Amino acid sequence: MEMEQIKAYAAAHAEEARQLTEVLCRIPAPFGKERARAEFCKSWLERYGAQNVRIDSADNMVLELNAAGSDALTVLMAHTDTVFPDTAPMEVRRKGGRLLCPGVGDDTANLAELLVAARFLLEQGISPKHGLVIAANSGEEGLGNLRGCRQLIADYRGRVARMISFDGYYNRLWNKAVGSARYRVTVRTRGGHSFRDFGAPNAIAQLAELIGTLYTVRPHWGPEGTVTTYNVGAIQGGTSVNTIAQEASMLYEYRSDEAAGLRGMEEAFRAVVEDFRARGAEIEVESLGVRPCGEGVDPVAQQALSDWSEVLLKKHTAGDIVVEPASTDCNIPLSLGIPAVSFGLCDGGGAHTRQEWIEAASLETGLGIALEAVLHVSE
Ligand SMILES: [Zn+2]
Repeated sequence: MEMEQIKAYAAAHAEEARQLTEVLCRIPAPFGKERARAEFCKSWLERYGAQNVRIDSADNMVLELNAAGSDALTVLMAHTDTVFPDTAPMEVRRKGGRLLCPGVGDDTANLAELLVAARFLLEQGISPKHGLVIAANSGEEGLGNLRGCRQLIADYRGRVARMISFDGYYNRLWNKAVGSARYRVTVRTRGGHSFRDFGAPNAIAQLAELIGTLYTVRPHWGPEGTVTTYNVGAIQGGTSVNTIAQEASMLYEYRSDEAAGLRGMEEAFRAVVEDFRARGAEIEVESLGVRPCGEGVDPVAQQALSDWSEVLLKKHTAGDIVVEPASTDCNIPLSLGIPAVSFGLCDGGGAHTRQEWIEAASLETGLGIALEAVLHVSE
């Protein structure tokens, strides 16, 4: 199809993408409650003749196009969940050329454009040569632990050749996974009165010492250029000023863009905890989620997918494309050796804040990108 036709379709359907973004914003989709949005996506696509649409056990909406029997599938996805816990509908407001609403760019507009691009394939009667799976997936944000993407990859095990996640903005391309591990660590002691039991172990003092020791870890694993970090993000504990604390806990995470970095941090963390336990501390370690790093991906195939995406984005947008590692749904395919990238179909800012916005005019540009992408992966 000619570029002219793609641009004409994008221009003719940008308003539809805007309206669809507004309708989707009104359907709350906090973590664990994405089903209503998935159901809406299913019936919207069925209105345009989609068959084989289902909602799976992870609350993903899944549309298959010529997927049966293929073992070289392309998975296109945009996530339904937002970081906001609100269960009341959220309205999009217009201000100048902007659309404002929590979650509007991350990832609602991208989802709307993926749906319009799917509608385009249905209307054109295009049967993707190697099969296509189009998904509105759950669980990308926060403690969702990539639930939806994990389910998709499990359901199509061994059959996925590449995955593209529409997320973020169109001037960013995420082509490498930042993996992470998150924990709640709780220290418990017998406690007592601050004066009468002075000298008895204090959970806050023990946790503080544990944190101090963790902060002596110097990440050095993985090849040159590997970035590995850690953070204690929250602490709580204690009862009163004159009580020897019985309990104290923290939220702790570490991240790396290389699997070796994550493994190194895990070993260092375990060693510190074991050392404290050996000295009598009672420590509970609770995993709050693991996002794996990439491992075993064919570097040539991954580079080709990344390069193609960058060229596509440059063709449709002005300015530079920032290519960088990130923690996204792509962590799952990349950890299983499946090439994957993530980029957005809109321009905006303030993701994960209540001031989030997108440029209304960017929907037409983004739709052009989406259409060219779905045509390319259908060849
Ligand atoms: Zn997102």
